[in-house]
Amino acid sequence: MMSLTLPFLLTFLALSQAQPLSDDPPQPSTTVCIVGAGIGGSSVAHFLRKYSPESTPATDIRVFERNGVVGGRIATVTVAGETFEAGASILHPKNLHTVDYVKILNLKINEPDSDPLSLGIWNGKKFVFKTVTLSSNVPLINKLLELPFVDTLLSLFNSARMFLRYGFSLFKMQNFVESAVERFLNYYKDTSSRPIFETVDEMLQWAGLYNLTTRTLHDELVDAGLSNLLIDELVTVITRINYGQSVSMSGLGGAVSLAGSGGGLWSVKGGNWQMAAGLINRSDVALHLHEEIKSVADLGDFYELNSTKGNSYKCEVAVVATPLDELDIQFIPPISIPERKMQHTYTTFVRGFLNPAYFGLKAETKIPDLVGTVEDPSLPFSCIAVLKKHNEKESTYKLFSRQPMEDTLLDSIFSVRKETIQINWAAYPHYHAPEVFAPFILDKRHLYYVNAFENAASTMETSAVAAENIARLILSRYFGKEIVNSSNLSATSRGEGTHLDL
Ligand SMILES: Cc1cc2nc3c(=O)[nH]c(=O)nc-3n(C[C@H](O)[C@H](O)[C@H](O)COP(=O)(O)OP(=O)(O)OC[C@H]3O[C@@H](n4cnc5c(N)ncnc54)[C@H](O)[C@@H]3O)c2cc1C
Repeated sequence: MMSLTLPFLLTFLALSQAQPLSDDPPQPSTTVCIVGAGIGGSSVAHFLRKYSPESTPATDIRVFERNGVVGGRIATVTVAGETFEAGASILHPKNLHTVDYVKILNLKINEPDSDPLSLGIWNGKKFVFKTVTLSSNVPLINKLLELPFVDTLLSLFNSARMFLRYGFSLFKMQNFVESAVERFLNYYKDTSSRPIFETVDEMLQWAGLYNLTTRTLHDELVDAGLSNLLIDELVTVITRINYGQSVSMSGLGGAVSLAGSGGGLWSVKGGNWQMAAGLINRSDVALHLHEEIKSVADLGDFYELNSTKGNSYKCEVAVVATPLDELDIQFIPPISIPERKMQHTYTTFVRGFLNPAYFGLKAETKIPDLVGTVEDPSLPFSCIAVLKKHNEKESTYKLFSRQPMEDTLLDSIFSVRKETIQINWAAYPHYHAPEVFAPFILDKRHLYYVNAFENAASTMETSAVAAENIARLILSRYFGKEIVNSSNLSATSRGEGTHLDL
């Protein structure tokens, strides 16, 4: 793994050469403390370094992570020796910050799948819609199915089937999503023409996205002219897969969810967590793993952060880069943020074989690769997808559900179950309309909250977009004055032995 000693020396040399020698005492360095080493916290560190003008006084960045690894809700799981994404798994082709991360970190990506999964919409009694797949136990027929034109014909046939069921509503849905994505692209405009936002409301209004947070996805889609059938089936399947929620969620969360079902989706080879790890590694930060922050006290000129290890840290700027909703961090004086419920998603991995009888079918091959579900409280899962077919009698599957999947239930869905792993995620906010947003600046001073933006939408990219804004806020609000005044910049030591290579 990359060592941080060399970049530190280079930075030190560059700074000492750039500054005229002066008899003035060196300026004390400023410490920015970031709570949370997910993609949000690591992106704040990255953008602070990226946008710090050379004249910014020396800044130490400390990142605190309660777990022993970075990445947070981006994590992998190993099932029978193979690794799969357990949390955030897919990225959109227009997620421009993460596209950039992959480039600067020299990561490889898993190309979008050219062989789409077959889809079935299950209502608890039958498949109300199914795309067609062809498979056979006869080797010669399987050879025929490998021919590219058979694939193309099949894909055209499936598009026609979908059109027959949902009609022009499909195009209206696409327009709705494209218009939201277009507006989101404003956040990548050059910083010279893009404001720094002090509130989430302001940030959404500027891009033309705010109104989507004031109405439900259902109402937005009805106004866009979508049929009830499309909303109740395909759209619902997608919001249940991506956010574990119904079309009563906010329009913006819903638009993001629908965008995450389109073409060109990608992921990082070996795990998306490498983006967070790479950003931390190259941003010259002191990373404190296994160190949970339990209190943040404003002591006037600085904040004191206390950790469960009994350590205290003095930080001029503090950034909360984790949802506060299920945490017990004590703020002194107390802060006030609107109440928000997190949607829990149980992610269950099973290596085994689905039971066709559960779906009223005769053979496992008749079960679609992706089984989505409609909104019905009696349905015990949101979706089941094949992640990998190992052989004709064994695959690895991923299930999402709002409640834990009990063994007896799993035993009725699967005829063979060799390995099962279940993770309970406090996954993303439970979206409402109208949404109410927590402040980016929690105390009117220098205590910031990246995850205030999660009420707009929760994705790796939206965390990065919010983090970029927080980094710009810090640089303008805290350092703005000092950049102007500083004439005798000096480099000070960084890292202080707490630095860990990932
Ligand atoms: C099952 C699932 C599927 C998802 N699918 C996708 C997807 O396909 N695509 C997509 O883009 N997004 C997806 N998401 C959403 C995405 O994972 C999140 O939006 C994003 O990762 C949030 O990043 P974050 O850094 O803001 O928060 P987190 O990843 O939650 O990071 C916060 C970090 O802070 C740490 N922490 C918390 N409290 C403390 C403390 N007191 N002291 C120190 N450290 C602390 C936590 O351990 C954690 O590491 C999915 C999420 C889940 C759960």
